Amino acid sequence: MKILLVEDNEAIIMGLEYLLEQEGYTCLVARRRREAERLLEKECPDLLLLDIGLPDGDGYQLCQTIRKQYAFPIIFLTAREEEEDVVRAFDLGADDYVIKPFRNRELLSRIKNLLRRGDRSSTPLRCGNITLDTETGRVRVAGEEVTLTRLEYKILSSMMSRPGKLFTREEILAEVWDISGNFVNDNTLSVTMTRIREKLGDVDGRVIKTVRGMGYRMENEA
Ligand code: CA
Repeated sequence: MKILLVEDNEAIIMGLEYLLEQEGYTCLVARRRREAERLLEKECPDLLLLDIGLPDGDGYQLCQTIRKQYAFPIIFLTAREEEEDVVRAFDLGADDYVIKPFRNRELLSRIKNLLRRGDRSSTPLRCGNITLDTETGRVRVAGEEVTLTRLEYKILSSMMSRPGKLFTREEILAEVWDISGNFVNDNTLSVTMTRIREKLGDVDGRVIKTVRGMGYRMENEA
């Protein structure tokens, strides 16, 4: 099992690397937000330990970005103990929140607990005959793999993670703006939705429903 530690404090890094490796985990370390993002392009950890104060951004932003694409558990590991900080982390999709200084054995048991739970949550997302595996990034329609662009994948994975929810165009635009760093306009969004539908074999929009004047909704029973 691989654990990604995003932390800039060398003493904590050393301590945790030792602790995790003693327990048989592989520990990947990123000291910057950017470094973590780059690492995630080639590695898929089973769990993330995330500091809030990073030299080039904060753990909240990183958590938000990661949650749009990955389902692995995230534990915040931080000195911030204000209720609003904790609540914010959970709102952004954190699974646990551990305050520094932490106790090693307690942290380990929280990690193990989440990894056990993770066995279940790593099952692919499903909608009708479409499956999307957030770990491998593979999308299949009736068992056949389809290739999506990054943008298409991001939109589809966030819609599939919440079937039945209405996604407004503004919401989708805000999300993809965040991740890609590129400007996606309204027209690009329409074109992208059409492409996704084509790839899913959903030309008549029965799987991804257009809610006129509002946005899109993924139909679960399709
Ligand atoms: Ca820090």
